[in-house]
Amino acid sequence: MVGKRLSSVLSHAANAISAFVDQWDLAMSAAGEDRSSPSAHALLPARLVAGYEDFLGGRFRREQDRYGQLAKTGQKPKVLLIGCCDSRVSPEVIFDAGPGEIFVVRNVANLVPPYAPNDDLHGTSAALEFAVLSLAVEHIVVMGHASCGGVRAFVDNAGEAPPPGDFIGHWMSLIKPAAERVGPPEAPLDLYAERLAKASIIHTLANLRTFPYVRERETHGQLALHGAYFGVADGRLLALDEKSGEFLPISEAAHAKAFATPRF
Ligand SMILES: [Zn+2]
Repeated sequence: MVGKRLSSVLSHAANAISAFVDQWDLAMSAAGEDRSSPSAHALLPARLVAGYEDFLGGRFRREQDRYGQLAKTGQKPKVLLIGCCDSRVSPEVIFDAGPGEIFVVRNVANLVPPYAPNDDLHGTSAALEFAVLSLAVEHIVVMGHASCGGVRAFVDNAGEAPPPGDFIGHWMSLIKPAAERVGPPEAPLDLYAERLAKASIIHTLANLRTFPYVRERETHGQLALHGAYFGVADGRLLALDEKSGEFLPISEAAHAKAFATPRF
């Protein structure tokens, strides 16, 4: 009996100490005292540490409640965006998205292989499966972009078999059916690469429809597929009209305003 009471007292004391330490930590960080080890900062690139600190003081501070809520309830994004790894085309930046809003898969040249249920390691297909079957996203957007290095690598090496170990070459062979539709490369190659990048978006949508659950959900109106193309230099976003195969500019007024308004 006494032993039980003693262990209960000790447990209460431990909880009280732990709560006090938590409060102390909060008070210290609120007071701006940096108690992290200086050597820990060196474990990450300085640019990332500086950016993280800006994030804490800015966006995280403003969206703290949302982060807390998302941690409790889990993510429920409505959009799966398949984009390129290119550092200039971050979907969250282009679409001004907050945490939990877009489920993003990025790979070289925003490609999706056709449905192939075998033992290969299908990273993009695994993400697609999770987004469609577990998260039940309502939209899939394939977003290509101007000056894509992956597309350009394919154009520059067209006709040559990729050497063993050439991951990019093998990966970019997914663009072959689109290249066959566009025709052989012709000058100027920049314009040819742009046509190919757009044709590849259309072909990637066709590849997405080879996944049974994508096709089924689209047929039942539970999932919509879209294509988009971002201009990088001019910030122009084009959306694919699948009926005509044309990429049409969107938000023209907002785009014009971005250039007309003095920035400083
Ligand atoms: Zn790219």
